[in-house]
Amino acid sequence: MVTRSYCLCDGEYIGIEYIYTVIDGMQINDKEKLAWMRDKAHAHELFCPCGCGANLTVVAGDRNLREQHFRLLQGNGSNECHYMEEGETSIDSKVVLKCWLDEKLSDDNLKARVPICDASDSNRKYEFTFLSQKNGIAVNYCRHRYNLSEDKLGILEQNSAGINVIHIVDQDNEAINWQYPEGMMKVQDWQGYCLALQIEGRDYEKAKLRALFYAKDLDGRWNSILVANSKLKDYEFDEDGKLIVDGKRVADLAKTTKEQYEKEQEEYRERREEHRRLVEKQREQKRQEWLRRQKEQEAEEERRKAEKARRREEIKQAREQRKKEKEAEEARKKVREEEQAANLKKSEEEFWKSINDEFARNDKQVISPEGARIVKCRKCGMIGETSMFSTYGGPQSMNYGICTKCMRKR
Ligand SMILES: [Zn+2]
Ligand SMILES: [Zn+2]
Repeated sequence: MVTRSYCLCDGEYIGIEYIYTVIDGMQINDKEKLAWMRDKAHAHELFCPCGCGANLTVVAGDRNLREQHFRLLQGNGSNECHYMEEGETSIDSKVVLKCWLDEKLSDDNLKARVPICDASDSNRKYEFTFLSQKNGIAVNYCRHRYNLSEDKLGILEQNSAGINVIHIVDQDNEAINWQYPEGMMKVQDWQGYCLALQIEGRDYEKAKLRALFYAKDLDGRWNSILVANSKLKDYEFDEDGKLIVDGKRVADLAKTTKEQYEKEQEEYRERREEHRRLVEKQREQKRQEWLRRQKEQEAEEERRKAEKARRREEIKQAREQRKKEKEAEEARKKVREEEQAANLKKSEEEFWKSINDEFARNDKQVISPEGARIVKCRKCGMIGETSMFSTYGGPQSMNYGICTKCMRKR
């Protein structure tokens, strides 16, 4: 069943929030307003807001503040009904805001859902959620940020001469995940900051209001920056109709917070720049260090190559040296052999020269340089060792004999 949150009465919209109020800090149903509304219902003067002509009655239990709503009376209304159901959060938020404005403004003529044509001479369709002409304060509550058109905000502002318009959105719209918060920025552009309402049902005591603004950080990401976070009942209005919290205007708090944020961003930017320079410097140092090592390695490589070449040269020289020594040794050996051969020849010559003398003298045994006894053949004159002789020796012929060959010829 459609629960209706507002009706048409005496040409004005009246929301169910009308009967809620706060007295001495207690959120209650306003007895007199409820009685007035019941009278209107009995007199069939509460109509469906769509203009279908159907009559409504008011349902208001005395136990549970959540039960209040308007209900369609069956069997009346001549036209088809086009009533658009309002979401629960939207209804509850309006109840909570009504209680807040009642408590802070004490305006018996606080109007709800006021088309701006009633507040000025415009005939545009947009409405103030609440309007207190007496205090010069209007509230524009918005459940979904995509309903926040620049057109709407502009028209609301332009048609609010002498009225402070406060734009409040549901907290669902707050989170942005670093994206550009287009809808919220429209509010921020008008108001300087955003107000996000957080409710728990229709409980005024528990409702909270966060003031915040959006700003880009150094990396171009959008951030939500908190200005104030208090219970809704801690927010009030000063004599100029400006929103205050803890005795300070929210607009001023937003300004100082913004300045602080910008200062922090600037400091952060400087720190980051400093860090970037440091990193750059370290990188350069590392690069230089690397180049230095590279050069060292190249020099080391050169040194190794030179050492290798030097060793190769040494080996080559040593080999040549050995070759030369060998050649010299061979040359010396040859000289030595030649000398030996010459000496041998000479000693042989001397031996043969002296041996003939010895044979002639024949006074002692002839002995070769090797120690062998040497004999001469009487027949053929052959001189040789005793083994080549058949006979030798005897008186007067100590060194003579007949060789084996001559003995055979006989
Ligand atoms: Zn209707
Ligand atoms: Zn002989």
